[in-house]
Amino acid sequence: MKLIIQKYGGTSVGSSSRILKVAHRVKKWYQCNYDLVIVTSAMSGETNKLLSLLNEVSTNNKKWPRELDQVLSSGEQIAAGLLATCLNEIGVPSVSYAGWQVPIKTNSAHGKARIDSIDTKKIISELNKKKVVIVTGFQGVDQLGSITTLGRGGSDTSAVALAAALKARECLIYTDVDGVYTTDPRIVQEARRLSKITFEEMLEMSSLGSKILQIRAVEFAGKYKVKTRVLSSLTEFNIPIKEESTSGTLITHEEDKKMENAVISGIAFNRDEAKITITGVPDTPGVAFKILGPIAKANIDVDMIIQNSSNDGTTDFSFTVNRTELNEAIAVLNNSVRPEINASEISSDNQICKVSVVGIGMRSHVGVASQMFEVLSNEGINIKMISTSEIKISVVINDKYMELAVRALHKAFELDQK
Ligand code: ADP
Ligand code: ASP
Ligand code: MG
Repeated sequence: MKLIIQKYGGTSVGSSSRILKVAHRVKKWYQCNYDLVIVTSAMSGETNKLLSLLNEVSTNNKKWPRELDQVLSSGEQIAAGLLATCLNEIGVPSVSYAGWQVPIKTNSAHGKARIDSIDTKKIISELNKKKVVIVTGFQGVDQLGSITTLGRGGSDTSAVALAAALKARECLIYTDVDGVYTTDPRIVQEARRLSKITFEEMLEMSSLGSKILQIRAVEFAGKYKVKTRVLSSLTEFNIPIKEESTSGTLITHEEDKKMENAVISGIAFNRDEAKITITGVPDTPGVAFKILGPIAKANIDVDMIIQNSSNDGTTDFSFTVNRTELNEAIAVLNNSVRPEINASEISSDNQICKVSVVGIGMRSHVGVASQMFEVLSNEGINIKMISTSEIKISVVINDKYMELAVRALHKAFELDQK
């Protein structure tokens, strides 16, 4: 089977005329005898609109997670049905399925569900009838039969997971930029498109906030060796397939020599986090567990963590969480943690952002961290937190310096140059 999965993001299906253009692009592939499974996002802005509607009727929509997903998942269903209709209208037999109809089975973590398995029988049967199968992105169904969503940007994950389950030749992620850039081209005009990026680097870029691909999608691509390419849906749809299928950015599983030369491949930033600091924490064994155990139990993800060394038997403990989970995290700390550990104060800062430089070349180069700190120092930007791994360095800084920091680092690491 010559099976290709294509995913179209919100902008790509943002209006009826855009959906028609997608349909014509799909037709081009269909006419070249490809079997096609198309994953759609909701039309751009739609998921946010649904979220606002929920917020109009609920002060805390997280209290009703099942209903949250019931509402949020609906945007994709509209886009999928519209695309299937367009395809049928232009002579391409097509059928659309919602995640629960496939079914794409997930756990029950509403709002951030994980895919457990995909039943491919119906899809394969439709493909055998020479139909293009449209599947709603971003969603699945749990064991209770409730609709679940996979977290914002989750249609990428639906696409790569379907590619893995159906053993597709390739997964093409069509979006509103023509590939993965050295940093978000909306922030730095000089950002350059990378024709290839290693899976490991993409994993770091996504986990550090680069919204071009959802991190779970990259994880699936890595685990199941799915050949994944990011490319533009805004180009003319009648360009030759050969040209189109070598455009954009390929997520590669091999590190070639040329790539090793680049010390830094990209810069990511994330404005979605908030920092919590607990002061006067007794510096005793088990205290980190006493703080973070209840946070994990409340299903709140923690990102960066720092603990200072103690002078007087007490220490400060800081960590970051997603801004949307800040209030919940503070409540957990006040209710379950504070009485246990006798901390003196809990404070928070949501005016932060995390800026990270990423590159596999860091493995064989020293001095990247000091160069990064020098650039920030020259711009007068104070660093609040630092974390490193073999191939990335992240700093937390004041939110208002984010663009300045990203531009200065992009220039200093010469990412604007070939
Ligand atoms: P879609 O709706 O197609 O899923 P997204 O908005 O989720 O699209 O992702 C595409 C956007 O990601 C681009 O418009 C761009 O602003 C942003 N972006 C962030 N980092 C990068 C990067 N390194 N390279 C390319 N685009 C990036
Ligand atoms: N529509 C969902 C979102 O806006 C999923 C996606 O676009 O990938 O997050
Ligand atoms: Mg996206």
